[in-house]
Amino acid sequence: MGETFVVVGGDAAGMSAASKAKRDDPDLEVVAFERGEWVSYAACGMPYYVKGEIDSLSDLVQVTPESFRQDRDVDLRTGHEVVAIDPERQVVTVVADGEQFEQPHDHLLVATGASAVMPPFGGLDLDGVFTIHDMDAAAAIHDFVESTGPETAAIVGGGYVGIEMAEALAARGLDVHLFEMLPHVLQPFGESVATVVEEHLEERRVTLHLDTPVEGFAGDEAGTVEAVTLESTAVPADVVVVGVGVRPNVELAEGAGIELGDTGAIATDEYGRTNVEHVYAAGDCAEARNVVTGEPDYVPLALTANRAGRAIGQTVTGNPTPVGGIAGTAIVKAFDLGAARTGVLDEAAAREAGFDPVSVEITAPTRAHYYPGAEQLTVALVADRASGRVIGASVVGREGAKRIDTVATALHAGMTVADLERLDLAYAPPFSPVWDPVATAARVLSGKLDT
Ligand SMILES: Cc1cc2nc3c(=O)[nH]c(=O)nc-3n(C[C@H](O)[C@H](O)[C@H](O)COP(=O)(O)OP(=O)(O)OC[C@H]3O[C@@H](n4cnc5c(N)ncnc54)[C@H](O)[C@@H]3O)c2cc1C
Repeated sequence: MGETFVVVGGDAAGMSAASKAKRDDPDLEVVAFERGEWVSYAACGMPYYVKGEIDSLSDLVQVTPESFRQDRDVDLRTGHEVVAIDPERQVVTVVADGEQFEQPHDHLLVATGASAVMPPFGGLDLDGVFTIHDMDAAAAIHDFVESTGPETAAIVGGGYVGIEMAEALAARGLDVHLFEMLPHVLQPFGESVATVVEEHLEERRVTLHLDTPVEGFAGDEAGTVEAVTLESTAVPADVVVVGVGVRPNVELAEGAGIELGDTGAIATDEYGRTNVEHVYAAGDCAEARNVVTGEPDYVPLALTANRAGRAIGQTVTGNPTPVGGIAGTAIVKAFDLGAARTGVLDEAAAREAGFDPVSVEITAPTRAHYYPGAEQLTVALVADRASGRVIGASVVGREGAKRIDTVATALHAGMTVADLERLDLAYAPPFSPVWDPVATAARVLSGKLDT
């Protein structure tokens, strides 16, 4: 009899692993358990569904359950929740339709993802108060907006999901208020990005309430939200979206003696292996190694999940493949702006990681100065003074934010500022000035490092 690979969680990490393992070893029995009904869905597209740019939620599904079963020969079971892992006996306990059974395995992947953080706000259970972490929540927000025709919206949390939802609801004609308890939105992107984004949000009539902790929500007699309550006042809101972060779903793993790291996510090695033999973890429930600091880190994003799942799919078929490190590279659209970040930007975090950070911020055109349509791109670049190594960057502008990938590549390669300055980057007037904004930032930072 062939071996069995069991996957817990039917989205990015889990289904990447299941598909890859089955493709590479058709004799492997691959069983994937998903407690919900949606699998292989692009959560990243949900704000654009609420906005009305994507017609149907099912457009966000990459591969349907039927296709996994018929075309890929993966034994995918939706509506099946894994409730326990027994590493000694190498079985998982599964509950479906009120029945319980055990599934043996030779290899197991925990790909249970993350859940939205629910702060201790009063009134979270009012109608019209939502988080947006899964497809059902996206459907619920969409339907609530369509059916009740709200005029004002409150977004709680100025992270990337909050910003995307602010754009989505503003596009539907709502008067949007965004509440953030920190002094700036997009905290991991650094202050230079945040201030540009904040100005733009206000231009687009999003009312910002920065440095403003929310206490909860007040409702009418029918139990529908009507206001966000602050320390000494209340702001009217007909619909509320809470997006204050996620926490890894680790209870199942913890219950089986699988170790967590300092970040609270599942600790893994470079192959995605946990401390328990035959058990792997990947995606939003797991840590990954930061290529800049060399330390375990937790940055729950889609490519990390897909990549790690695929690598583990290869590893379990006898082709050991590293899951790859992360640089915390992220990009977000805020109305007409793109903002992106990679690596270590924060001075205190850089010092804690043993670096002596030196940084520059430049603003340069995205195309040749004479070519129509050029926009300004602000690039902040950070390096370590002693080694000259590039350790982080952010960019913000109306076009060209994907240029962050040049710096992300430099981080993965351990390049110095001088290396980055000397890269042979593509140039033609419609695409870039002769010196791309990233190269210009490197040139200016080189000068600063020389002094
Ligand atoms: C609104 C929104 C926008 C986003 N935008 C971006 C973006 O632009 N770029 C980006 O990189 N990332 C984005 N992300 C993050 C990205 O969606 C996640 O990083 C990615 O989905 C992680 O995949 P995963 O497979 O690890 O976890 P998940 O997608 O969370 O999937 C885990 C699955 O496991 C199932 N499960 C959990 N426990 C069990 C159990 N015990 N038994 C059975 N099944 C179980 C869950 O039901 C779930 O379907 C966004 C997320 C959201 C919510």
